[in-house]
Amino acid sequence: MKKIIIAVVITVVLVGATYKLAVDTEAGQNFLLDRALSARMVQPPVSEFLGLEVMVCGSSSPLPDPSRAQACIMVRAGNRIFLVDAGSGSAEVLRLEGVPMQLIGTILLTHFHSDHISAIADVNLGSWVAGRPARLQIVGPEGVNSVVAGFNLAYGLDRSYRTAHHGEDFLPSVLGALQAQTITPGVIYAEDELTITAFEVDHAPISPAVGYRFDYMGRSVVVTGDTIVTKGIEVAAKDADLLLTDALSHDLINAMSEGAAAGGMDRGATILKDIMDYHADTKNIGKMAAAAGVGQVAFYHLVPPVQNVVMENIFMRGVPSDTILTHDGMRFLLPAGSDVLEIVEKN
Ligand SMILES: [Zn+2]
Ligand SMILES: [Zn+2]
Repeated sequence: MKKIIIAVVITVVLVGATYKLAVDTEAGQNFLLDRALSARMVQPPVSEFLGLEVMVCGSSSPLPDPSRAQACIMVRAGNRIFLVDAGSGSAEVLRLEGVPMQLIGTILLTHFHSDHISAIADVNLGSWVAGRPARLQIVGPEGVNSVVAGFNLAYGLDRSYRTAHHGEDFLPSVLGALQAQTITPGVIYAEDELTITAFEVDHAPISPAVGYRFDYMGRSVVVTGDTIVTKGIEVAAKDADLLLTDALSHDLINAMSEGAAAGGMDRGATILKDIMDYHADTKNIGKMAAAAGVGQVAFYHLVPPVQNVVMENIFMRGVPSDTILTHDGMRFLLPAGSDVLEIVEKN
């Protein structure tokens, strides 16, 4: 027994001394820094994955959550990366998850609420600096021109500083400005086996508002953007492998609204009541998805963002048990020519 106590004491002293040496001395700090840098600062390899890769780059809505960015879904088909929306914090998620930013060529906007567009400038800068070979395309329904003109104006000085500092060869000014493209529902992209179809959703009074469906090498993913559950989504999501849908828990939002009113937060109570009529009720999604023949349903744009297991259990009340509640960094891999759907947890 005495020997064990001595061994434990010696181990504790050695661990403590090593920790102090590593953290408090320059040599120790440099050693740890080198190890961390060589592990993290590595050019990501070009993916050889054949199929659709989907990553949640923002699972939240405007209600604040320190661990979730606002609306953003990444869809990758080979070396083409599309984002559906770019809400606040989503550029950081993309970079922290090691997404090759230079391959992001297009952001598809579902509508122009701030929680879907506020990180456009960050994605633009991140992809420009990473070496994106063409201007970043901002695609969306009527109104996208004014959004893009506004960002280009607001960030004009920033772009000029970057080019002046790093040089026209390294950061060509022409590639720093966003390019707008207005679309209407229907097929909006069909190239090299990838088809993207925009479809109308119901986010009234916000109009136009659309969702997007991606079909690539026999695999398909549908992203709704903000909407209530509609027949149109059922049609657009017909036999899709994966449906990423807006999701609002009436039980949670009701309770929060009543709590806010009881606490004297009248404005908060009003807003919480108002938002209940233009998002997808979690309890209506499963039936629609089953009628559409969707393979896997996953909730994102969580209203409210789920922060603990109690909230999660309430959020998932009345929801089919195989439904996935996403979090930032969650990936879905859909290999070409199969019906496999692999879920990869955050890095
Ligand atoms: Zn939203
Ligand atoms: Zn919205």
